[in-house]
Amino acid sequence: MSLNANQARLMMLQVADAIIAAEPMLSQADRDLGDGDHGLGMKRGMEAVKAQLEPMDPASVEQVFVTTGTAMMTSMGGASGAIFGTVYRAGGKALAGRPAFDAEGLSLLLSAALEGVMKRGGAKPGDKTMIDALAPAAEKARESTALPLTEALTAVAAAAEGGKEASKNMIAQFGRAKTLGEACLGFPDAGACSVVVMLNTMRDFVVG
Ligand code: ADP
Ligand code: MG
Ligand code: MG
Repeated sequence: MSLNANQARLMMLQVADAIIAAEPMLSQADRDLGDGDHGLGMKRGMEAVKAQLEPMDPASVEQVFVTTGTAMMTSMGGASGAIFGTVYRAGGKALAGRPAFDAEGLSLLLSAALEGVMKRGGAKPGDKTMIDALAPAAEKARESTALPLTEALTAVAAAAEGGKEASKNMIAQFGRAKTLGEACLGFPDAGACSVVVMLNTMRDFVVG
């Protein structure tokens, strides 16, 4: 099972709607640890994504994801505009030449996204950022390339959720939360929450 370019476009429109619907939860997560703007920033980014993808007749899966990342990067600003823009731009470029999005493409996308984000932002696993959801997701995807996309995405979304939960026990090394020290224990990272919403929605789209 794999998605053609238009099905990938429809999946990303569903992801955009899910992030927009999750805005209150994402805002609260960032209020607990940061400046509270993550939900609104992601919502603004996803409205820009919808404006690009709704009229699009995509030529490739690469184009769908790269367009998503460019729309986020140019509309959101802040740390997360660069971070989540890089997820989809670097991830999308790794799909160049692939006719469809399958479990191997999922692995290529997540590994390139992780590498791009780490290079761009300088954070690493354990710093209490979205990397703590993305890194276990990328690792699980590498183990799941032989599976049907439905099973791969189910396993990958669960790995991201586990990473988000683990981020509760981490002390932030980046952003405003860094000044909180041990006061940030018990709360998950807001960007990790966004990664979980995105991967859960991709799973729901392919599982149907
Ligand atoms: P800002 O920090 O500019 O207010 P947001 O609130 O939208 O931006 O996003 C904050 C999220 O961005 C954090 O929860 C974290 O997951 C992610 N983030 C911030 N800095 C980095 C970084 N250097 N590497 C990876 N992710 C980061
Ligand atoms: Mg913020
Ligand atoms: Mg901010």
